[in-house]
Amino acid sequence: MKKRILLSIITLCTFAQAEEVRKITFVPRDIEGYPRICSVENACMVYPKTIQEVKERSAFAQKEALKLINAIITCPVEKQHKKTMLYALDRVYAWVDSTRYPINTVGNVHPDEVMRNECVAHYMELNNFIAENVESNRALYKVFKSYHDTNAQKEALTAQERYFLKTMLRTFERAGSGLSDDKAAQLEKLKKRCMELEAQFQKNLSDDTSKFFVSKEQLVGMSEEWIASLPREGELYALPAYGSLYWDVMFYCELEATRKAMYILGVNRALANKAVTKELLAIRNKRAEILGYKSFADFDLFYQMVETPSKAWEFLKEMQARNLPYAKKEAEERIHNLPEGISLTKDGKIKIWDLYYKGHISARKQSSDKINVSEYFPLEHTLDGLIKIYEQFFDIVIEKLPIQDSWHSDVRLVRVSTKDKKVMAYVFLDLFPREKKYSHCVAFWCADGVKKLDGSSYPGVVTVVCNLTKPSPDKPALLTYSDITTIFHEFGHALHSAFGRTSLYYQSGTKNVTRDFVETPSQMLEYWLGSRDTIKMLSAHYKTGQPLPEASIDEVVKNCKNLSYVSRCTYFGMFLLALHEEDKNKTIEQINKVFIEQNNPCVDYGDEYHNYCQLTQLGRENYGPKYYGYLWTLALAADVFEQIQKEGLLNPEAGKKYVDAILSHGGSKDANDMLRDYLGREPQFDAFYKKMGLE
Ligand SMILES: [Zn+2]
Repeated sequence: MKKRILLSIITLCTFAQAEEVRKITFVPRDIEGYPRICSVENACMVYPKTIQEVKERSAFAQKEALKLINAIITCPVEKQHKKTMLYALDRVYAWVDSTRYPINTVGNVHPDEVMRNECVAHYMELNNFIAENVESNRALYKVFKSYHDTNAQKEALTAQERYFLKTMLRTFERAGSGLSDDKAAQLEKLKKRCMELEAQFQKNLSDDTSKFFVSKEQLVGMSEEWIASLPREGELYALPAYGSLYWDVMFYCELEATRKAMYILGVNRALANKAVTKELLAIRNKRAEILGYKSFADFDLFYQMVETPSKAWEFLKEMQARNLPYAKKEAEERIHNLPEGISLTKDGKIKIWDLYYKGHISARKQSSDKINVSEYFPLEHTLDGLIKIYEQFFDIVIEKLPIQDSWHSDVRLVRVSTKDKKVMAYVFLDLFPREKKYSHCVAFWCADGVKKLDGSSYPGVVTVVCNLTKPSPDKPALLTYSDITTIFHEFGHALHSAFGRTSLYYQSGTKNVTRDFVETPSQMLEYWLGSRDTIKMLSAHYKTGQPLPEASIDEVVKNCKNLSYVSRCTYFGMFLLALHEEDKNKTIEQINKVFIEQNNPCVDYGDEYHNYCQLTQLGRENYGPKYYGYLWTLALAADVFEQIQKEGLLNPEAGKKYVDAILSHGGSKDANDMLRDYLGREPQFDAFYKKMGLE
């Protein structure tokens, strides 16, 4: 009997394996390799389901891409035209991008660790593939350069095709493809070292789980309930030096010694990154020098909207000048109303560990979530409200659809279509936190849609990942104000992708929109939440169905104005810009001190302020000196929003004008030109100053 059971288990396993082999799926594609998604089932197929699938997809995409690359390189001059050059290279990106980005998504959300690791490894492999076989491929660059200088001059190319050619040439050049052999080799070595250091930076940060051990006596001021919930190690409580428990102590613990000790532990987290940062900055600057730029900031900003560090500085200094009087006034109020027992330093400043105690300057940001409005924002109702608003303004149809086949049962799907039922995008929503899931909020590109030259068009696939408050057995998922902002924002990226379908895959969606513009459309949608009508449409108490009371609406709308965010972005923006403009005479700490003190008058941060060791943007090249971008895009968004508000927040004609001028271009046009076309003038920041009370 036992034997028979065993036998049938074996048979079952073999059958299951055979099933799996047969079931290996690939991203559905047309004959040229562009992802062609024709149904919900096709959309689900974009995400690999097994490790075997990840491996096979990665290998297959690389093989197809190599064939195309070789064909471009060996193409005789007389046959070099847009089909054999531009569109052939575009197909390389269509193959690799629509393989690597879904793999990256799965690597961030899949519940199985082995699968996640496999995805991360293959995502890296495919990134390296593009870097080595495309961007640093000197033979490929040579062919493109010759095509650009000769045949392309005579050929009728569209504006988008010319833009692609220009973008690709500068991508080759920035990767060092135009350098002499020894310089190119030197650059390659430095780039590899940068990648190692960046990985080390993130690793040092995630490895540092410093804990602060305290006795109950050291937690005077904290509630019994709070203390009882803490993890214990023997007689002591173990507090992490970051996250919400850390902030609770900073806000409420009555003993200065506890706050100070915890602050010191917190600010020295990942201190090993001090050396990593120093080397990283030196190498980034060296790379820029080899490529003929004055500094890494000059190199990095050259193809952003701001184009030069000086323009970014001008912007940040203007923000600082406008914001400082408010920051000073606020600091003075704080000094005037210091809680009992708090003393100032000799030169009249607040010690940093006292700044947060019993309410402080930046408490204004947190206060948006302190207003208990979440009972009025159950997820389903709020999501339906968002869908209604987006449907009306953008004149589209958004449908919730059932799915069976995804990486987790929480995942849901919506389909975005035009009014005449042409599907534009499938958007997968993975909204609740899980262990080891990507812990921030993001819209992952997966497969972008395209508008083919023959007139057909394919929808795209996007994944929105959030970590919203989960439903409980007796309550639905209730959203905080910042949850709602997040969902408006991330869904905005998904719509930008849906509208941004272009004829070249490389330009489609948002993946190649400059970093100092790509957030503008999503931040613009956040401003909708500053409208009383929007809040009314979104709110319905989960028990009574009543909308949020008028007084609370006022409070919520007021929270759209967040000057502490302006302070923070100005400070980090300036600090990171300065760090990437070589100044050998100053240490990182000295540069940091200048900007933190400039932007936070009346606060004493001490001389060894190592917060930058935890600043992930510093350790990631795609941010580097571009921190100003957070504020820059927000300020541009206000300019666009003001225009739309004049025309009507639910006016589909206003929506169409905006889509035509901005979203529909994806990454096929310079962002400055898109904004000028939309606004009919140069973009300006007056609307932002007005919104923030910084006039
Ligand atoms: Zn965003």
